[in-house]
Amino acid sequence: MADILKKDQFILPEGVVYLDGNSLGPMPKTVPQRMQGVVTDEWAQLLIGGWNKAGWMEMPARVGDSVGRLIGAPKGSVVMGDTLSIKVYQALASGVKLRPDRRVILSDTGNFPSDLYIAEGLVGLLGQGYELRTVAPEDVAEAISDDIAVVMLTEVDYRTGRKHDMKTITEMAHAAGAVMVWDLAHSAGALPVDLAASNCEFAVGCTYKYLNSGPGGPAFIYVRPDLADRVEPALAGWLGHARPFDFDLNYTPGAGIERMRVGTPPVLQLAALEESMKLWEDVDMNDLRAASIALQEQFIAEVEAAVPALTLASPRDATVRGSQVSFRFEHGYAAMQAVIARGVVGDFRAPDIMRFGFTPLYIDTADVTKAVGIIADVMNNDLWDDDQYKVRARVT
Ligand SMILES: *Cc1c(COP(=O)(O)O)cnc(C)c1O
Repeated sequence: MADILKKDQFILPEGVVYLDGNSLGPMPKTVPQRMQGVVTDEWAQLLIGGWNKAGWMEMPARVGDSVGRLIGAPKGSVVMGDTLSIKVYQALASGVKLRPDRRVILSDTGNFPSDLYIAEGLVGLLGQGYELRTVAPEDVAEAISDDIAVVMLTEVDYRTGRKHDMKTITEMAHAAGAVMVWDLAHSAGALPVDLAASNCEFAVGCTYKYLNSGPGGPAFIYVRPDLADRVEPALAGWLGHARPFDFDLNYTPGAGIERMRVGTPPVLQLAALEESMKLWEDVDMNDLRAASIALQEQFIAEVEAAVPALTLASPRDATVRGSQVSFRFEHGYAAMQAVIARGVVGDFRAPDIMRFGFTPLYIDTADVTKAVGIIADVMNNDLWDDDQYKVRARVT
């Protein structure tokens, strides 16, 4: 297996095993210098001239291309901006518009709540008999029927790590005449994705997880190239206009993917992301996947051998699992706090999931063994059973 470890290119706190890069990726070493440059050379010196002279206005498309490369999207089919929740709304609303004679959005109960809330809000606003239908993740294929306008799924379940078969489900959606929207929040930078081959109409995702853009980093949206000049962007903002600086009173959508832009791009966060994306230039996603699976298999085997109290919540078959492993434990919150206090950072997802993300660019086999040792100590000696670990923080 090719060695893809780049641990020395990230800043990680001394002594910490970071198994939460699936929630907030760590900072690549070169990011502070790039941010410093943008702040002092561009913002401070160029002021408003930065939009033209420093190429700020082209950043959403330029950075979109580098993200697109990782997910099998052709050049010019991905644009950055806003947060993922907003991009879910755009994809969904644009998708529904492509099937005006249908009223159902299909999703699954393993989807991230924000995606479902956004869909709920959209159907409420549309009225006219629109509905959101959700089924268990295992039942999606069966639930695809010819009354469905849009199938909206997150490829990898944020809690269990269960992975949908993107190509097969997209084919089924298309066979039923539905539009397919994929959320790649736990896929981009985590496993190989081939959007062009999947043939889906829309895909969205965030960059602060596996792509290390930092807290609040911008989301991306992909529109299949043959549709990009045809879709209605749903959120028609001035920077998605064909000629924003005409200040025309009427909206004319921009060319292709540019129309999915809404307002002013987050230049500082885009700079952090653009810098982070440099680390991916020589990464083969198949090698990354193989390394991720090896780490996960090691983790599962070692945990199951050493920690009888934990029950695997993720699929045992690595081919249908993303890049995370989750275990169930009744007192999972307190247990995770106790584990974090000892330098192994994972997270907790209600009601009882202890979640660990595997990111082979900066996690190696020694980290896995060290993490399991600490988890075993906490679990087998009931070290979590302590009031200091039981008070829920705002972010879990
Ligand atoms: C992380 C995540 C989100 C978060 O959305 P934001 O708008 O970026 O806060 C949404 N959907 C899924 C599937 C996620 O995993």
